[in-house]
Amino acid sequence: MELKGKTAIVTGGTSGIGFSTAQAFLEKGAKVVVVGRNAQRGENAVAELSKISADVVFYQGDTSDESSVKGLVDFAVEKFGSLDVMVNNAGIGIHGTVDELSADDWAKVIDINLNGVFYGTKYAAIQMKKQGKGGAIISTSSIEGVIGDPLIPSYCAAKGGVNQLAKSSALSLAKDGIRVNTVNPGYVDTPLVSVEAIGQELHDALVAMHPLGRFAKPEEIAHAIIFLAENEFITGTHLIVDGGYTAR
Ligand code: NAP
Repeated sequence: MELKGKTAIVTGGTSGIGFSTAQAFLEKGAKVVVVGRNAQRGENAVAELSKISADVVFYQGDTSDESSVKGLVDFAVEKFGSLDVMVNNAGIGIHGTVDELSADDWAKVIDINLNGVFYGTKYAAIQMKKQGKGGAIISTSSIEGVIGDPLIPSYCAAKGGVNQLAKSSALSLAKDGIRVNTVNPGYVDTPLVSVEAIGQELHDALVAMHPLGRFAKPEEIAHAIIFLAENEFITGTHLIVDGGYTAR
């Protein structure tokens, strides 16, 4: 798919992987809506992204709220005339083994990391079907959607769900030319897994799990998302970008 002139929504586009993805779409000549809950972070992101192109706006929304996601798609179409690429990227992580985790913390992660991706996929698909020109839906899953991790069971459950949601949606939407895929990163250098967020000891242990000896740079994941948006024969797949983590 030629991205120049197309419209992309990037949820969680105000930080980390989403921010780099928004940069990459703008560099390709696409128009971009970045989404987050925090208005200040949104304004800062747009100020930075505008240095690449003026075709970028912020939508303050919460992807765990269905009406907010429906409003987001309407906003993108009103602003830029169409929706061609949906990147369901917003996500959080909460640590706690299964016997320690509260039902509230379980629900928070499922609400954002899985339900939010469902809402994004659903309303993007409705809009893309209406337009009749196909489209691409890409969700940021994780290697934690294909392997187990004792410390983050809710995150693993949500990301595994995101993988299966993508496969199922890819099958029902293929006849409309709408492709649905996931990118499954290993650990990525973002605030979500910074030393401040998870502590030096866990950070170092996680780096050591990657045969390439480092976390990914956010732009390396953005590059994979662009690839999935552009390649018109990929659907229903999971692109693992993990420095060899899952090769063992
Ligand atoms: P990040 O730097 O913490 O950024 C998260 C982004 O999501 C922020 O823009 C945040 O903005 C937004 N967000 C969070 N909850 C939201 C909600 N309910 N509604 C709207 N926006 C929301 O995280 P990241 O590391 O780039 O992670 C992005 C995605 O990659 C996540 O799905 C994560 O699970 C996945 N991932 C990350 C890694 C990693 O190692 N970093 C590895 C594999 C997969 P607000 O807080 O202002 O809403």
